[in-house]
Amino acid sequence: MPNSRYDAVIVGGGHNGLVAAAYLARAGRRVLVLERLPRVGGAAVSARVFPGVDARLSRYSYLVSLLPRKVVRELGLRLELRRRRIASYTPAVRDGKPTGLLVDAADPARTRDSFRALTGSDREWQAWQRFYGMTAEVARQVFPTLTEPLPTRAELRRRVGDDTAWTALFERPLGEEVERRFTDDLVRGVVLTDALIGTFTHAHDPELRQNRCFLYHVVGNGTGDWDVPVGGMGAVTDALAEAALAAGAEIRTGCEVTAIATDGHGDAEVSYRHGDESEATVAGRRVLVNAAPATLARLLGEEPGPGPAPEGSQLKVNMVLRRLPRLRDAAADPREAFAGTFHIAEGYRQLETAYAEAAAGRLPSAPPSEIYCHTLTDPSILGPEAARQGLHTLTLFGLHMPARLFGVPYDRAAEERALAASLAQLDAVLAEPVADCLAVDADGRPCIEARTPPQLEREIGLPGGHIFHRDLAFPFTEEEPAGVAARWGVATAHPNVLLCGAGAVRGGGVSGIPGHNAAQAVLAGPDR
Ligand SMILES: Cc1cc2nc3c(=O)[nH]c(=O)nc-3n(C[C@H](O)[C@H](O)[C@H](O)COP(=O)(O)OP(=O)(O)OC[C@H]3O[C@@H](n4cnc5c(N)ncnc54)[C@H](O)[C@@H]3O)c2cc1C
Repeated sequence: MPNSRYDAVIVGGGHNGLVAAAYLARAGRRVLVLERLPRVGGAAVSARVFPGVDARLSRYSYLVSLLPRKVVRELGLRLELRRRRIASYTPAVRDGKPTGLLVDAADPARTRDSFRALTGSDREWQAWQRFYGMTAEVARQVFPTLTEPLPTRAELRRRVGDDTAWTALFERPLGEEVERRFTDDLVRGVVLTDALIGTFTHAHDPELRQNRCFLYHVVGNGTGDWDVPVGGMGAVTDALAEAALAAGAEIRTGCEVTAIATDGHGDAEVSYRHGDESEATVAGRRVLVNAAPATLARLLGEEPGPGPAPEGSQLKVNMVLRRLPRLRDAAADPREAFAGTFHIAEGYRQLETAYAEAAAGRLPSAPPSEIYCHTLTDPSILGPEAARQGLHTLTLFGLHMPARLFGVPYDRAAEERALAASLAQLDAVLAEPVADCLAVDADGRPCIEARTPPQLEREIGLPGGHIFHRDLAFPFTEEEPAGVAARWGVATAHPNVLLCGAGAVRGGGVSGIPGHNAAQAVLAGPDR
């Protein structure tokens, strides 16, 4: 027999579970969050990764775009998100000489000059302006809908109000639009990367995975800006946990949910195991699942949904540096170049080749990746000694590194090859090897760690290491949804079990949106 009864039991204390808990507890519901790990936050956490080095790294996710201001305001979150002045820098070689493309968010004239110097005219710059003008307008229309009941395809199309933009972004493979608007391979590649972050696909995927991924990367808060969470990603989770606790939610860490039993009506029973191996069961009028849909199927004792199992495709590398490396492009200041998103081997053709190689089961010969330095925008993640030494953190997010490359059982040598190949691409644009700039930890080891998809599955429970729990969905429904949960995009096959994490429609990324939407579905539903 269950020994406790709650209005809502939340399976998983990722940032979305905490958002749902905060909203429901504030509405007076009795809420219990059960988290498997000893800490909350899931993929949105900070950690001191290297012994003796006081730098709190955003170990997995690192930038925030999709967290609605509305959620920050409504939950009273104490949180600062800081705009990056430099949006991106992309090293290049032209006429045999190192150069680069700098996108300075605060200085359009400087960005124009950089385009002109790289491409020889203003054509690509003008195309860039028009393209991102279009996405900005789409963002302004689409973003507010993400925290409303799901629109139908026709409703969202009307709201976007621009048939050309709709066709380009929602109906035709994004590669067609990129090739139609841009001619320079490097510029095309920079545009395409937003379609590939955390999504193993290519420019012409007929299933439009690239379009869905692109959309989530350009609509955040109606601008698509990616901001730095001051204090690191852990500060986002801390603010959410504080809001949930202050509202009266109960959070138990070290509690892995092992089964959910429901006949769809009445209470569901949630069984979990404490760290000390003792078992317990609680009853919930609703169960909100922050764990991935594949995990939910297992907990219900059901078969996973149709289609291939989720598979992540990224290599995350965390580093602490003694100093920023110098660049081959001597005109570029590393303090600017590394402050924005620094693209490596992400030309359009390079992205295509890397995808084809990985899809064929081979490590990409020139792995594409992007890096970014948190401490240039927010040094507050360094302790006093690390700050005095002038340390910097560097995050590398590698694309086209699907879980299948790392074998079963886990192939450590493949991980080492993937890391070495990615660093070689970085070194190719530096005037000195990055290894020479790494800080060393208390044991004399260089401060660098890599995380492949299988490691992310083991560490934080992402199925197949998929950073969005499963492939992203377009933010609309094809049919008039049946029931409140479906209207909010959080339905499962069981009326009293809802998704509240990245696997929901409009999930994915550090957004809190599925947590908000699941809470709204509970609050709008029958109060059984
Ligand atoms: C390397 C990496 C980099 C990323 N970079 C960014 C970025 O810069 N910006 C961005 O917006 N997004 C980024 N993402 C994606 C983003 O972090 C995730 O999509 C988001 O954090 C998902 O949040 P969530 O709360 O829905 O799920 P999760 O963070 O996955 O949390 C789910 C929680 O459920 C718990 N759980 C699972 N099973 C059980 C169980 N049986 N019992 C109890 N608890 C359970 C897990 O331990 C976890 O705490 C990145 C992800 C990764 C991995």
